[in-house]
Amino acid sequence: MSLINYVLNLFGLKKLTYKQLTYGVLSATSIYILYPSFKGILFAILGIKLIKVDIDSERWDKYTTGISNRGNDCYINSSLQAFSALEYLTIYLNEYIQLFFKQVEIAEEAENHSKTNIRGLLHESLCSVCGDLQKLICQPKVISNVQIVQSLERIFQSKISRDQNDAHEFVQMLLQRLCEENKILYEYSDNRILKNIKCDFPFKGTISRHYFCMSCHKRSKIQKQDQFMWELNVPQRYECSLQEIIENDGYEMIQDYSCLYCQVSALLVNEANYNFNNDDFENKNICQLKALLPILKINSDIPNHLLYYIKNYDKNRCVPSKMKTTIVRRSAFSKLPKILIMHLSRSMYNGMVMARNSCRVTFPEILELNQQNLGEDGNFQMKKMKYSLKAMVKHTGSHYQGHYQCYKQKPKLVFNNQNKQFINKAPTIIERIDDIQNNKDIEKTKIHGIKKFKTIKTVKSSPFWLISDDKVKEVKNSTLHNENKYVYMLYYEIQLE
Ligand SMILES: [Zn+2]
Repeated sequence: MSLINYVLNLFGLKKLTYKQLTYGVLSATSIYILYPSFKGILFAILGIKLIKVDIDSERWDKYTTGISNRGNDCYINSSLQAFSALEYLTIYLNEYIQLFFKQVEIAEEAENHSKTNIRGLLHESLCSVCGDLQKLICQPKVISNVQIVQSLERIFQSKISRDQNDAHEFVQMLLQRLCEENKILYEYSDNRILKNIKCDFPFKGTISRHYFCMSCHKRSKIQKQDQFMWELNVPQRYECSLQEIIENDGYEMIQDYSCLYCQVSALLVNEANYNFNNDDFENKNICQLKALLPILKINSDIPNHLLYYIKNYDKNRCVPSKMKTTIVRRSAFSKLPKILIMHLSRSMYNGMVMARNSCRVTFPEILELNQQNLGEDGNFQMKKMKYSLKAMVKHTGSHYQGHYQCYKQKPKLVFNNQNKQFINKAPTIIERIDDIQNNKDIEKTKIHGIKKFKTIKTVKSSPFWLISDDKVKEVKNSTLHNENKYVYMLYYEIQLE
């Protein structure tokens, strides 16, 4: 389904074929104009939905929609289930739809038809799949993943292999493509719209790295790198905690490093100790190095002629280019993402072949992480952030084959004692405008502190579903935490203060 069709579907209109796309753009625009106000869409983003059911009717948290497996699809299915549990992703996808919507409208007004060609195929498919998976149901239901598979095949213009693929590689591919589509829409979008709709990519975090020389105690320049998924190596031990793995990931010893500061200092000490009969050219180089030394880092960029001089310096058994030291890499998030996906790498070489590392990794439901802003002076400012676990993907089997399943947190379902309605307080993908109502009661409750909403016992006692393709069952927290041997990917979301 194209975004145009998705948008039309939003208003309960029939699907259009791909050939009718131009007509679809025009229709979508006019329908949008007919919609009374932009505010309505914003309420929709809050995604508060009322489900009109009686208190005595069947339970709404017992089942969630499963996805059928056409053979080796468990890596796709478990990843999509995890994505559908992410509230910030839902908010982001709704923002993306709005931004697209507004952009098409503006392009049409300006009769700029080239700008209507800003389709985000993967966003469209993900909206559709996540929307289906978020629907509350009271009896088992199964959908197909064929739409997302076909979109990916169209995007990459190649068939997705029918073999068992790796869930983390699949997620990495999805995230990279979503980010590219986000950039394209941003480039096309008008600044006036971007002021109102942020549409920031929720997976983007920034890692800062620097290196410290154990011999001269000098540092490197700080390198910053954007990151969508955190790759963590599981140690070859019987058990360890996620926090230990995270702490260890922040430091690494690197041997045999050519530290520029150590090399220049050794050269200058050698020159000071032995009064060599240097020519003018050499004296000039030495003077320049002396001047540079106070501001030199272990990997500074210096002029090529000085690098060449250091590389070829060989006097009185002082050969700086042969000097090797040990350095420590230190890395930390300088900007933590709203959605933190971690991949626990369990591949290890056992001396003969690659094997699976079965270390038992304990993981918390609330994870505290530090955002560290590293200054060039080596000092850093820390800010603590809290994350809550939304989904976990487990992997059973060997390094070469196995099965992926997803633990997905149930949505925030509560019961309104007064009007006897179930309310899903979690944001959901915008579906049809007439389904969405702004529940002002929730606001009133916040103001007066009246306890009108009752938590649902089974959401509390069994807060997760375990989903294996088309099979779904409710599980307690203890079942989830007993999976420490199989935990493979963790999906956390930031808690706002
Ligand atoms: Zn050094």
